[in-house]
Amino acid sequence: MERTLVLLKPDAVQRGLVGPILARFEQKGLKLVGLKLRQFPKATLEQHYSVHKERPFFRSLVEFMGSGPVVALALEGKNAIAVVRKLMGKTNSAEAEPGTIRGDYGMSFSNNLVHGSDGPESAATELKLFFGGADELVSWTPAESTWIYAPEELG
Ligand code: UDP
Ligand code: MG
Repeated sequence: MERTLVLLKPDAVQRGLVGPILARFEQKGLKLVGLKLRQFPKATLEQHYSVHKERPFFRSLVEFMGSGPVVALALEGKNAIAVVRKLMGKTNSAEAEPGTIRGDYGMSFSNNLVHGSDGPESAATELKLFFGGADELVSWTPAESTWIYAPEELG
């Protein structure tokens, strides 16, 4: 099992899309293990996007992400990182495939609704950044868990 960080960006919150987007992750079978809504401080957002700090869009990205409330999710599942990235679709929403979150709800490159960790290292770092406090992540067993995976897949 793998855990990943998802952010529902300020455009998703402002547009009333928290419910529909969260539903996609739940319906897919990803388990919610962390959830919070907050307007995050600039320092957190700069750290989160520090890999992009030399890119021309860095300042406007941090500005956008700090412009309103963001919903942070921690999701768990088999290959959760890759599964989430696939559900999100391409970075540029205008090019993202229909059926993906960005493909169905967005038109923009920058205001593209969701963030998802892109690998195991970034997932670990980002989960610590957004859910670093004690007891912020919850380990639990959904009632339907034995129906989401075959026994051999749970190994
Ligand atoms: N972004 C942007 N312009 C660009 C590339 C990226 O505004 O030319 C923003 C966009 O919001 C994107 C974020 O920066 O989601 C991080 O970029 P990355 O390439 O990591 O895309 P992602 O992993 O979110 O698909
Ligand atoms: Mg990225």
